[in-house]
Amino acid sequence: MCRVFLAGDEFEIIPTNILPDPTYLGSGSFVIGCEGAQDRDANKRELYNLLSKLCGIKPEWGTLTGVRPLKPALDIFDETGDISLMKEEMRYKYLLSDSKLDLLAEIAEYQRSHVTGNPPDFISIYAGIPFCPTRCAYCSFASNVAGSEEIREYLSNLGKEIDYTGQLYKRDKKEVESIYIGGGTPTTLEADQLTKLITELSEAFDIKPSEIEFTVEAGRPDTITEEKLIALRDAGVRRISINPQSMKDETMKLIGRNHSAEDIRNAFAIARKVGFDVINADLIAGLPDESAEDFRKSLDEIIGIGAENITVHTLSVKRGSRLHEHDPEYYRRDIERVAEMLDYSREKLNECGYHPYYIYRQKHQMGAFENVGYCLEDKHSIYNIRIMEDKQSIIALGAGGVGKIYFPEEDRIERVANVSNYEIYSERFDEMLARKDKYFGG
Ligand code: SF4
Repeated sequence: MCRVFLAGDEFEIIPTNILPDPTYLGSGSFVIGCEGAQDRDANKRELYNLLSKLCGIKPEWGTLTGVRPLKPALDIFDETGDISLMKEEMRYKYLLSDSKLDLLAEIAEYQRSHVTGNPPDFISIYAGIPFCPTRCAYCSFASNVAGSEEIREYLSNLGKEIDYTGQLYKRDKKEVESIYIGGGTPTTLEADQLTKLITELSEAFDIKPSEIEFTVEAGRPDTITEEKLIALRDAGVRRISINPQSMKDETMKLIGRNHSAEDIRNAFAIARKVGFDVINADLIAGLPDESAEDFRKSLDEIIGIGAENITVHTLSVKRGSRLHEHDPEYYRRDIERVAEMLDYSREKLNECGYHPYYIYRQKHQMGAFENVGYCLEDKHSIYNIRIMEDKQSIIALGAGGVGKIYFPEEDRIERVANVSNYEIYSERFDEMLARKDKYFGG
């Protein structure tokens, strides 16, 4: 929580009887005296109020930190069945702003009215393709620019991992609810490689892609061709993602993308012609040199293009990204501009019939804001909801995949991570296979 208010990554708690007023000591050091209470939440509220006084800001998520702000809200909603009570309790406990309380309430109501229960034997599958045509300035994901030989070798190992996991799966009584191929940019692969990968997944897990929720992140428009999209469609894929991030050409160049806004328009046109049920488009609020007006134009155009899902991210500047190397404190600047973008996105998307349906937060996001997935009625992605719920096992295959095993009796998850570097993935391949046993009680 201190990071939301103050620069720096490390903070120290020193027990003392002296309670000074919040004071700046110079050289990035502050002293803040807290009374200290029995209850952890009360301590956080006290600290929040003191930091607020010291810095003159009131971050909208209050004392609520962590990736999944919806979780405590849903716990209260499920227990009481009363959305006003949920808001009241969340306001008291975490000091959330009215706007964030309304957002959580809308998402909770959408999920509970549109998504059925989660049977304990249901699982989801994630397969990672850690390759992209170039690396974006803000990227901290497992993404690499690699040659065709390296990609072929990677796919050969991934195929073996899928096959091995499929054999374990067939001995167990589980059912696949959704599959997500992400990355990186999966459409970096050639059309025949995509077809082969989908066939391997279908055979290993005994599914027909057209009969479950099966998503492929096409991602970067510079990798999309009609041939690849036809291959996806013919394999039974009904959902794809085309992720502009912005529709401003100068921004694309600035963030190291190899394409223009016109390429995005073409990619959407091809996808519409080929025919998919749902196209998701990701946008980012807070990209370098973008004004609120630039963001508004991008969002309006994507709504006009008719994406069924629009995910509005707040820029996160993590370690490992070029943007972080250039300016580690970037995420602390220009917060009002980002707030204006997010407010606009909510208002405009609601007006155009989109519902906010899932939410998560990341470290080092500008203004400590959030990412929100919006969908047209009934067009939500179940995979996105499940991954945030933490109540389902998700098997992750390939480099960079972080899976989870859900233990319903204890209502807890355990993470099972593959290594993120694709070369190390190949070097330690036997170990990656052995980790798959864990999902099936091994
Ligand atoms: S497209 Fe995504 S995964 Fe690829 S480099 Fe850009 S941010 Fe990273």
